[in-house]
Amino acid sequence: MDFELPEELRLLKNTVRNFVDRELIPIEMEAMDGHRMRADVRAGLEKKAQALGLWHLDVPVEYGGAGLGLLGLVTVWEEISRTIAMPPRGPSVFGPDIRPILFTLNPEQQQKYLYPVLRGEKNTAFAQTEPDAGADPGSMRSTAVRQGDWYIINGYKRFITAADTADFLQVVAATDRAKGSRGGLSMFLVDCDSPGLKIVRSSTTMMGDVVWELAFDDVRVPVENLIGNEGDGMRAAQSWITAGRLYQACRGLGVAQRSIEMATSYAQQRVTFGQKLADRQAVQFMVSDSYMEHRMTQLLVYNVAARTDAGVASRHESFMAKIQGTELGFRVADRCMQIHGGLGLLNEMPIAKMWRDARSFMITEGPVEVMRSVLARDIFRQAN
Ligand SMILES: Cc1cc2nc3c(=O)[nH]c(=O)nc-3n(C[C@H](O)[C@H](O)[C@H](O)COP(=O)(O)OP(=O)(O)OC[C@H]3O[C@@H](n4cnc5c(N)ncnc54)[C@H](O)[C@@H]3O)c2cc1C
Repeated sequence: MDFELPEELRLLKNTVRNFVDRELIPIEMEAMDGHRMRADVRAGLEKKAQALGLWHLDVPVEYGGAGLGLLGLVTVWEEISRTIAMPPRGPSVFGPDIRPILFTLNPEQQQKYLYPVLRGEKNTAFAQTEPDAGADPGSMRSTAVRQGDWYIINGYKRFITAADTADFLQVVAATDRAKGSRGGLSMFLVDCDSPGLKIVRSSTTMMGDVVWELAFDDVRVPVENLIGNEGDGMRAAQSWITAGRLYQACRGLGVAQRSIEMATSYAQQRVTFGQKLADRQAVQFMVSDSYMEHRMTQLLVYNVAARTDAGVASRHESFMAKIQGTELGFRVADRCMQIHGGLGLLNEMPIAKMWRDARSFMITEGPVEVMRSVLARDIFRQAN
């Protein structure tokens, strides 16, 4: 059994690593304008990424992309997560951020919504979370009621990333509240200039992201904007679920990798009480534990990705990868902060931002407790 990445993915990983080291890390403290990468910085980086072939990596070949499998994508995600220049919830500099659900649209929907996103002409956002429905989307209150050739959407969404720049939303709403997540939710393409759709307010997170609250007041959506069939909303929202969990795990892996690099470098220079930090057992143990836990998690993530690419069901393993990866990121960033002492707390260093980002991965796109309880339910079911 081979635990190494195939040669072509090792090369890809190296290319991305060099890109991150040369182009992103040197500018990471100045790359942002508020919560978004500066437009001039982004334009320059996108050109360089395209020249290296690092463009549309996750877009299927039939849509003009590189069509990388999940194992390829995780190697890229790990590397880009070594820098705070690449915000975890924004478009990367390797092409627009496209949820795979858009590739399942019917041909008319693709012409109107997918292709403009691929060409960089339209932006989109995903709107599922509500004040009473976060980890548990089945309890959602937003409804979509069919009236002839229209659905009428009423409800309220919160924590929606990039709603301010979106031209259209992928909205999940209940078409049958009694059924909830078991066939009662549907997903719609909703133009942001639809009458009755209003941005109510924004909030800023400790990571610096800005998230939006949206009100839907009798928003009329043509029936042709339903994605798939009525009742498929949960399945559609979860179509990216394994990749999404691995993405979050990789964000943790990348933070952990960078934290180990920074901690080892600093510990070899910093002298206290006449001795380098690197010579102190307390610091050595933090570094060796971090290294060991990073490697174990990396192997788990590669394993889930390879199995998924091979069509082998990996539900359990994807839960474990998300839990391990996100908790690893936070734990190792925390150790790195500790080893840096007061410097680790300064906003002029990347560590505090890495630490805050890593903390958020344990909550967003499925809190780790939910992963643990679904995992436990399956384990008990298997035991019976
Ligand atoms: C920065 C950011 C960006 C986001 N972007 C988007 C977006 O673009 N679109 C979108 O739709 N949503 C988005 N979200 C929402 C995000 O996915 C939710 O915050 C997340 O799903 C958790 O939901 P909640 O905050 O309502 O927490 P809740 O569902 O209220 O859960 C709170 C806590 O309760 C615990 N808990 C919940 N259920 C269980 C359980 N079964 N067992 C044990 N413990 C449990 C967990 O500790 C959890 O953290 C974003 C959130 C943030 C912070």
